[in-house]
Amino acid sequence: AKSAGGDCIVVASDDFRNGLEQRRLLQRDLATAVSRGEFETVFQPIVEVGTLRAHGFETLLRWDHPDLGRLSPDFFIPLAEETGAIVEIGRFVLDRALSVAAKWPEPLTVSVNVSAVQLGDKAFVAHVHESLLRHDVAPHRLILEITETVLIRNGNAKAVLDELRALGVGIALDDFGTGYASMGYLRQYRFDKIKIDKSFVSTMVDEGKSAAIVRAICGLARDISATVVAEGIETEELLSLVGEAGCQLGQGYLFARPMSALQTTLFIERNGWG
Ligand code: C2E
Ligand code: CA
Ligand code: CA
Ligand code: CA
Repeated sequence: AKSAGGDCIVVASDDFRNGLEQRRLLQRDLATAVSRGEFETVFQPIVEVGTLRAHGFETLLRWDHPDLGRLSPDFFIPLAEETGAIVEIGRFVLDRALSVAAKWPEPLTVSVNVSAVQLGDKAFVAHVHESLLRHDVAPHRLILEITETVLIRNGNAKAVLDELRALGVGIALDDFGTGYASMGYLRQYRFDKIKIDKSFVSTMVDEGKSAAIVRAICGLARDISATVVAEGIETEELLSLVGEAGCQLGQGYLFARPMSALQTTLFIERNGWG
């Protein structure tokens, strides 16, 4: 059974999701999906909460499967991590992201999600460096988003992140508030951005406690010179709540859904860069 979830098809049947045979077939398809041109990158704006000006975009991956239609990354990224296909896929995403960002006004940033397997790839840092040079994008305009899981699964994460920082690339801690040890990581690593997960942000409306926690996170972020991005802003009410809590940046359907590379130009013109 399929149902519409956002702009993707969500494969709802547990039989399908868990079926070993199905997983194997999809993993086979993943191995050739890049060369067959089945992946598409879409871009979701990150805006300044105070001015609603565009700050940058997060790059999000879509897989147009020949039989199943457009699949969600939450579904296929774990499959690609298992086979290692994520390394090639990740290179494709970075390449697309930088080629699109090269056309935006200088200050706009482009964020790219990085999985644990990619960070563990020996050639990762060199590849990031080479890609920045090839597209002539200033390193500080690239933000690599990593989750706590990426840090847990990589004994070597600190060294790799230090190398990336030495290149001038920004690092964001993604999905903050969904893990177990987020606070601890803020002390161990330096992050330029902290992205508060949408599951957390969305509870701010009903629960005073989460508003207080978001306020505390924003205070902490200021102390370590990081910028806070509130994810999943779907309503005006949430926008004003995260603004009051001290979040500088926001992302969510209220501003825009993920869009094509072409559409980013229009969004940028309409949001402070016209
Ligand atoms: P994420 O990094 O937390 O990305 C944010 C997700 O929230 C995106 O889902 C986005 O479409 C969705 N979203 C944005 N605003 C709203 C909102 O207002 N309401 C709601 N309900 N959702 C919103 P998407 O594109 O399906 O991506 C899911 C996850 O897949 C991402 O979560 C990220 O972890 C992973 N992912 C996506 N692209 C890539 C990629 O290129 N590489 C890797 N390794 N992972 C990726
Ligand atoms: Ca992300
Ligand atoms: Ca996130
Ligand atoms: Ca997520």
